[in-house]
Amino acid sequence: MASLGTRSSTALIIQKYQFAFQKKFGQNFLIDQNILDKIVESADLTEKDCVLEIGPGIGTMTQRLAEEAGEVIAVEIDRNLIPILKDTLSPYENVTIINDDILKVDLAGLVQERNGGRPIKVVANLPYYITTPIIMALFEKHVPLQSVTVMVQKEVADRMQVGPGTKDYGALSLAVQYYSRPEIITRVPASCFMPSPNVDSTVIRLTRYEEPPVAVRDEEWLFAVIRASFNQRRKTLANGLANAAGLGLGRQQVEEVLTEMGLSRTMRGEALTLEQFADLSNRLMQ
Ligand code: SAM
Repeated sequence: MASLGTRSSTALIIQKYQFAFQKKFGQNFLIDQNILDKIVESADLTEKDCVLEIGPGIGTMTQRLAEEAGEVIAVEIDRNLIPILKDTLSPYENVTIINDDILKVDLAGLVQERNGGRPIKVVANLPYYITTPIIMALFEKHVPLQSVTVMVQKEVADRMQVGPGTKDYGALSLAVQYYSRPEIITRVPASCFMPSPNVDSTVIRLTRYEEPPVAVRDEEWLFAVIRASFNQRRKTLANGLANAAGLGLGRQQVEEVLTEMGLSRTMRGEALTLEQFADLSNRLMQ
């Protein structure tokens, strides 16, 4: 089948089905062949791979994934796209379309059912309004994964890979870097989508670590500490942690631990490395 990754073929499908774009679903379809090639190449697929695509749209990338991978599972929320997908993906027997909200799907159960629990690869041009919850769900719910190759808003990709001391550094950076090695693949201008979004985009690949780079006694506790540390960015770390309901930490206790670690009592969360957060959370565990 001819590729859908051009302005004219996408326009034809839109017209044929009288499809109306829904802004609330972050629908910006990719219409650039070179970018499609780069995404699929960097996902490094073989016939042995099972791929999860989040938000297949009209099936532009799904077609390419189906040609490279053994199996593709595509989860699309918009029921108006399902008849279109059934049409554009009809030549491919290795694609399963699921009409659901990705945030409501039991992904670990799906991987168990479709791939015998073996790690999958996620490839997607993500809906930007829920990029962070999707990435966090993939990692924190321990979905068996090898890699996540995704198009995201440029600023979000920057947040995923920066280190301490910058305004972009936060809970997302630390979660991504705890679970994976991030690597920017390419920048993508707004003109590569239909309709064009108001922002530029970036393709980023996150390669899942087999073992996290730091040792923590309790992951949930680590991320509770990290979230509380960034909740009140203008406050000191000690204040932020002591004010966080649910952690049950006293300000003096946090200050003492910071001193033990050789850190200033007035330091802010954005100055701490992942290693320091791991050390801090281990020491603060009662
Ligand atoms: N993959 C297509 C492409 O590259 O042209 C479409 C990408 S578009 C940026 C995002 C897609 O995600 C849309 O098809 C949208 O309907 C779908 N989507 C939005 N929210 C979703 C959700 N919660 N669960 C599953 N799909 C969703």
